[in-house]
Order: sequence, then C-alpha cells, then structure tokens
Amino acid sequence: MTDQFQGNYDCMVIGAHPDDAELCCGGTIAKLTREGKKVVLVDLTRGEMGTRGNTEIREQEAIDAAKILGVDERINLEMRDGFIRNDEESIYKIVSVVRKYRPKIILMHPWFERHPDHENTHYLVRDSLFKCGLKRFETFDEQGKLHEIYRTRRIFCYMQAYQFPKPADFFVDITDVHDIKIDAIKAFSSQVFVPGKYESEPKTRLSSPEFMEELVARARYFGGLNGVKYAEGFLSVEPIIMDSLSKLL
Ligand SMILES: [Zn+2]
Repeated sequence: MTDQFQGNYDCMVIGAHPDDAELCCGGTIAKLTREGKKVVLVDLTRGEMGTRGNTEIREQEAIDAAKILGVDERINLEMRDGFIRNDEESIYKIVSVVRKYRPKIILMHPWFERHPDHENTHYLVRDSLFKCGLKRFETFDEQGKLHEIYRTRRIFCYMQAYQFPKPADFFVDITDVHDIKIDAIKAFSSQVFVPGKYESEPKTRLSSPEFMEELVARARYFGGLNGVKYAEGFLSVEPIIMDSLSKLL
C-alpha cells in the first residue's frame, strides 16, 4: 500500500466512547505496543450518557485501560455523547488530530452498528479522512501553525455489536495478548461485569456476565477459523494490495 505521506504514529484507534477501542480491538492494540509500535487512542466523547458510572470514573478507567494495553497517548475530543454528528466542527476536530499524529493505520467503527454514535462516527471519520488530504481545508495546531495535509489508505473497521455486513477482510492473532485485552476491558469496571464492583448500579447488557462470555466466544470463534486460539477480525475500507506475496512469508 502506498501513502501520500509517511505517518509519525503507527496506529490511531478512534472510538465514539471510552472503552470502544478496548472492547473491539484491545488485543490488536496490545500486540502493536508489545512490538514497540506507537498507538494513540482517540475517544470522541466522555460517555456521559452511559447508564452506569460517571465521567470522572470513566476518565480514570480509560487512563488505566490504556496503561494496561501499553498505550502512552489517549486523547478525548469532547463531543457530546449520543449526538455525534458529521458536521463541520466535528470534521475540524478529527482532521486536526489525524494531521497532528499522522497515523499509518486507522482503526474505527464499521458503518453498520447498533449504537447510532458508532455509525455516525464511521461516516464522520470517513468524511474527515478525505478532507485531511485537501490543501484548502485548513486546520491549525495549538500554536496557530498550519497543519500539513495527510492521507492514509489503511483504514480498517473493528467489529462491535453487529456482525460485519460482509466477511472480514483479515484477522489478527491475539492469542498471546488475550489476557491483557481482558484486563484492559475489566479496567472499565463501572461498565462491564467485574465481581464485587458497582453491583448496586443499574444493570445493562454490557454489565452482564454473559457479555464478557460473548466477547471471549467471538475471539475464540475467529481464532478457530484461523487455526489459532483467539483472533480479532477487521474490514478494510479500501482494497488491500501488497507489494509482493513475499510479505506473507
Ligand atoms: Zn461505544
């Protein structure tokens, strides 16, 4: 694959809410950081509409989870939870952050999802990534310096509530980091089932013990499809091309 420009960060993971990245591709993130790759997590909202916990709790959980995954950079774009829109203000925020970090790979929500914020994030990010390469869509850093334009073709979607609308394009073997992924998810103890934690809070689908079982079962199923124990699946927005089949050797 060919980029118009070389990125500085290896991977940017964009999620509507704190915990989306860990739930959907925590294993893939842990694998990258263990290889010494630079990963930045971008949460669009603080998850303030969530039934359980509050923004302060969720902020600390997000910091703890990133630490467990070995990620040293996590930022929040402070959009309004439940009301993510593909408008000019939101596009400016996404374009600015992508041009700042210049990631070679971007992971994000697929276009078919249960939570409207997830679907809206997909289209917001797609629109923003196109505008990232437009010289006449100007964005500026904190010091008022004009960002350089940037493009990447490595835009991949992780799986969340729904199955993908078409078969996954590729999988990542997360067998050796699956425990780390589960630990990172359990850091969000106000949201998911952790025995003895937040048991008096209202029950949600995410906070049920069955949800964690489903999460593990899916990774195990994807692993089984590929002859390994645990895997995560991805869709590519753009066609995937390799310089040579030797890349798979
Ligand atoms: Zn979410």
